[in-house]
Amino acid sequence: MDIKVEDRAASDADAAAAIKEAILNKLIYSVGKSLEAASSHDWFVATAFVARDRIVERWLASIDEVNRTGRKQVYYLSVEFLIGRLLFDALTNMEMVEPTRAALFALGVDLDELREVEPDAALGNGGLGRLAACFMESLATLSIAAFGYGIRYDHGLFRQRIKDGRQLEYPEEWLAFGNPWEFQRPEVDYEIGFGGRIEAEHQPDGTVKHVWLPGETVEAVAYDTPIAGWRGAHINTLRLWSARAPDPLRLDKFNSGDHVGALMDQVRAESISKVLYPGDTTPAGQELRLRQEFFFASASLQDLVLRHLRQHGGILSLADKVAIQLNDTHPAIAVAELMRILVDLHDVPWRDAWAITQATFGYTNHTLLPEALETWPVPLMERLLPRHMQIIYLINAIHLDQASKLADSTGERLAAISLIDEAHGRRVRMGHLAFLGSHKVNGVSRLHSDLLKVTVFRELDAVLPGRITNKTNGVTFRRWLKEANPGLTSLLTEVVGDRLLDDARLLEKVAAVAGDAAFQERYAAERRANKVALAKLVRHRLGIKIDPDALFDVQIKRIHEYKRQILNILETIAVYDMIRAQPMRDWIPRVKIFSGKAAASYATAKLIIQLANDVAKIVNADPTVRGILKVVFLPNYNVSLAERIIPAADLSEQISTAGMEASGTGNMKLALNGALTIGTLDGANVEIREKVGADNIFIFGLTAEEVEAHRHRGIDGSDAINRSAKLAEVLEAIASGVFSPDEPDRYRGLVDILIHHDYFMVTADFESYYEAQRAVFRRWRDKRSWWRAAALNTAHMGWFSSDRTIAEYAKDIWDVPVKPPGRG
Ligand SMILES: *Cc1c(COP(=O)(O)O)cnc(C)c1O
Repeated sequence: MDIKVEDRAASDADAAAAIKEAILNKLIYSVGKSLEAASSHDWFVATAFVARDRIVERWLASIDEVNRTGRKQVYYLSVEFLIGRLLFDALTNMEMVEPTRAALFALGVDLDELREVEPDAALGNGGLGRLAACFMESLATLSIAAFGYGIRYDHGLFRQRIKDGRQLEYPEEWLAFGNPWEFQRPEVDYEIGFGGRIEAEHQPDGTVKHVWLPGETVEAVAYDTPIAGWRGAHINTLRLWSARAPDPLRLDKFNSGDHVGALMDQVRAESISKVLYPGDTTPAGQELRLRQEFFFASASLQDLVLRHLRQHGGILSLADKVAIQLNDTHPAIAVAELMRILVDLHDVPWRDAWAITQATFGYTNHTLLPEALETWPVPLMERLLPRHMQIIYLINAIHLDQASKLADSTGERLAAISLIDEAHGRRVRMGHLAFLGSHKVNGVSRLHSDLLKVTVFRELDAVLPGRITNKTNGVTFRRWLKEANPGLTSLLTEVVGDRLLDDARLLEKVAAVAGDAAFQERYAAERRANKVALAKLVRHRLGIKIDPDALFDVQIKRIHEYKRQILNILETIAVYDMIRAQPMRDWIPRVKIFSGKAAASYATAKLIIQLANDVAKIVNADPTVRGILKVVFLPNYNVSLAERIIPAADLSEQISTAGMEASGTGNMKLALNGALTIGTLDGANVEIREKVGADNIFIFGLTAEEVEAHRHRGIDGSDAINRSAKLAEVLEAIASGVFSPDEPDRYRGLVDILIHHDYFMVTADFESYYEAQRAVFRRWRDKRSWWRAAALNTAHMGWFSSDRTIAEYAKDIWDVPVKPPGRG
C-alpha cells in the first residue's frame, strides 16, 4: 500500500517535471517569449500547446486506425458549436490536470488563473450549439470515428453588457489573440458555387445531364481542432470552414487607384464566415444566412465524399461507410447538394441516389415552434441555388405523386406535406426537406418527439410512418461535473469509485448514502464552497453582496418569452411585497440569480432583461429586505459563466410554457450538480421527474395538453388575474412604474400583453408556480430532507450523460459500434 502511494507520487513528480520542461520549451520556441517577459496569455498558449502536442500524437493514431480499418464515419453537421474554453477540457480528458498544475506552480504560475485567460469559443447561441459540443466530446469518448462540421465565425455570439439595466451588444473577439487549438489547412479548400445557370447536355443514351455553371464562387478553407475523448482513448476532428475569395485582390483595380473596390470580392466572400447569426430582418441578411448554410453544407459534403472515394473507391457504398446527422434544419440543403453530387457529378441514377441519400442522412429537430422552422422564398433559392431548386422540385414531384396514391390522400394533406409552402408566397420548407431526405428523424426528449407526430410533422408522419424517433438529450459529465465541480466530483468518486466518468450510471450508488448524515454534511460543504465562490464573483462583477447561506434560486438560459423569465420576476416581486408588509416574519433568505442573452432584434426579450435589472435595483437598495432578498442579473451568460453558476445553484428554474421547450440541457446540468428543479412538465423535465422521483422535484403548472386546450378557449389573462389578488397587485406595480420611476410607462406594454394576449400562459400558471415556490421554502427549512433530495438528484441523473444519448444515436440511427471508455 505504502509503496504504491510512493510510486504514484514519484510518477506524478516525473510527469510534472516533463510538463514543466515542455511548457518552458513552448514558451520560448513557439510563443517566442522569455520567462521574465511572459504574460499570462503567453503562459496559457504555451500550456495549451503542450496539451495539444499530447492530443496530436493520439489524434494521428486515431486517424490512422480509422483509415486502416475503413470503419464507418459519422459526420455531425451543425451551424453552431458552443464549445467554451478548451484548456481545462483538454487537460482533464488527457488526465494531465494535476501534473500541469504542479508544473505551472513550480514556474510561479497558477493554473486556475490561466484558465480564466482563455476566451470562450462561443460559436453558438445556446442549447443547440452546446449540445453539438457535448456530442463531439461523447463521440470521441465512445471511440466513434466522427467529424464535426461547422463554420469558423470570426465573431461568435455577441458580448452582452448591461448599461442602465439595458442589454447592449458588442462584437465578440475570440480570435483576437490567435487560437492555439486549431490547425489551418490551407490545402483543404473547396469551391462553393452560387447563382449562375444550368446547361442540359443530352447524352448518347438519351438521358440528360445537368451541369451547373455558378455565377460566383467562394472558397471554403478548413480549420481543424482535435477533440479528445475521456482518457484520451480516441481523438476526433472538429472541422470548421472559413470563407475566402478565390481572387482576393483585384490588382488592376488597385493599381488604377480604386483601393477599396479592389477588395470588394474579398469582403463579399469573407462576410459568409464573419459573424454567427447575422441579422435576418432584411433581405440581404436573409440571403447571407442561406449563403452560410449552403457554404458549410457544400464544403462538408465535398470533403466527406472525397474522403470516401479515396478510401473506398466508389460512391455507391457511401451509405455503408458514412452517416450524416443534420443538427436542425440549418444544414438541410445538404440533402439537395448530395443529390446533385450523386446525380450530376457521379452519374448515379436518380432512384439509387435518393436511396443512398436517405440511408445516409439523419435529421434532429429542435423546435415545435412553426415560426422557427426554416423556410426560404422560392425566388431567393432560384437565384442563389438554381440547380438545387430544380432538384427540390423533382424530389417533391415524386414524393407528392407517391403520396397521392395512398388511400386517404386529400388535397389538404398533399399541401401540408409538400416541400413548397404555397400559402405564404411560395417558400421551401427546410424541415420537410430534411425529413424526406433522412431515414430517421428525431426529437430531443420523449415529450418533444411525441409532439412532433401531432404538430409540425403530423401529416408527414402519417404518410411516412415510423421515421420519427426519440433521442433524449444529454450533457457531458467531464465538463459539467468534473471540470465545473471538482470538489463534489471527488466526493462522489469516493462513493462510487474512480470509474464514475467512464460509466455515469455508477452514480446510482450515491442513492444508498443520500440519507446518511455524514455524507450529507460533506455534500453540503462542497456545495457551500461553490456558493462562496459564486458570491465572490457576484461581488467582484456587480458589487452586490450575497449571502452564501441564502437559497440560490437560479434561472440561466437565453431570454425568451416561452422560457418565462417573467414568471420568475413576478414571483420575486410578490415575495418582495410580502416581506415589506411583514418584515419581521421568519423569511427564508433567497438570492434570485438571472443570466442570459436576448437576440439583438427581440424587443420583448430585451425588455424582460431590463425589468429584471430594474427590479434588482429597487430590491437590492431597499433596507427592509436586506439579508432576505437579493436579485442579481449576471451579464454575458456563456459556457464559462455557466460553469461557475451551476455548481452553486440550489434551485433550478425550468419553467417554460409546457409543450414549448424541446428538451433543455441546462435542467440536466443543474440537477446533476445537486440543484432541485422547479419546473413544468416540459421537455426533458418529464424524464428528469421520472428518474429523480416526484418527491425530489417541484412540478407545477399546466401540462402541454392543458396549454393547448387553454389556448383554444382564448389567451386573455384577465380571469386568472381576477382570481389572484397577489398577481393583480404585482402587475399593477409594474405597469404603474414602481420599478421604473424614471419612465413609469416603460412596462405598460409588457403588462398589457400578459393581461390581454397571454400566449405563454404566465397568468394561468402564476398561482401554481407561487405555491410550488412555497413548497420549496418548506423543504429548505428541513435541511436533512433538502440535502437528501439534492443527493438523490445527483444519484439519478446518470442517464442524462451525453454518452448514453450518443450510444443511442450510434445504435438506432448511424449503425456504428461504440467502445465505452475505461482503462484497458
Ligand atoms: C446548457 C447551456 C444552454 C442551454 O440551456 P437551457 O436551459 O437548456 O436553455 C445555453 N447556454 C449555455 C452557455 C449553456 O451552457
